[in-house]
Amino acid sequence: MESAVILLCPICNAIHALEGRRNEYSKQELFSQVKTHLRGHDLNEPKMAIRKYGVVSDATEIVVPSKTRRQLPIKEWTERDDTWLPDGALSGGEGSQSTPESSVEVSSL
Ligand SMILES: [Zn+2]
Repeated sequence: MESAVILLCPICNAIHALEGRRNEYSKQELFSQVKTHLRGHDLNEPKMAIRKYGVVSDATEIVVPSKTRRQLPIKEWTERDDTWLPDGALSGGEGSQSTPESSVEVSSL
């Protein structure tokens, strides 16, 4: 069995997997991974920072059989629908942990 860390973009639902355990990565490393991806979205600096912290705090460590780990999107961010993940990896069915979108929106006034 192998460990991997899953990052999920809240904007486009893309997934990026990192080999190894979450505690092998410093927050700075995780932030830089996320920031690289978020640059592709049209965000201003405050929104970028909010999203960046959100993705890193939601990073999930999973354990998969060695032979299936290569199916994870290790090299690049991949659409969630095109991505193989073990059942329950992102605990998507519960729905109670999602952050309300409205708290992120900044009023123009
Ligand atoms: Zn994205």
